[in-house]
Amino acid sequence: MVKIEIDEEACVGCGSCVEDCPNDVYEMDEEKGKTKVVKEEDCMACLSCHEICPAQAMEHHDIHVAKRLYIDRKVKSVLDKMI
Ligand code: SF4
Ligand code: SF4
Repeated sequence: MVKIEIDEEACVGCGSCVEDCPNDVYEMDEEKGKTKVVKEEDCMACLSCHEICPAQAMEHHDIHVAKRLYIDRKVKSVLDKMI
């Protein structure tokens, strides 16, 4: 399984990773004002969150063992309505 490490010192709580992740791996921890990993097992190692994070606050380990495939959120929402 992919392992995700969040550097809470670096995270500025912008929420971009929460909005961007196609598999809802992150949620905002409202108390701390930081992101938190809630569904690590669903990470497919697309590294989109890496690209979008302004603070480079996350590290992904063992990305070669990702089990999920890329899912486009817009396509998925259309498919969910159809099936
Ligand atoms: S690498 Fe992709 S799937 Fe994994 S947490 Fe980041 S955005 Fe989500
Ligand atoms: S994108 Fe980066 S700075 Fe923004 S909430 Fe996520 S980890 Fe924190």
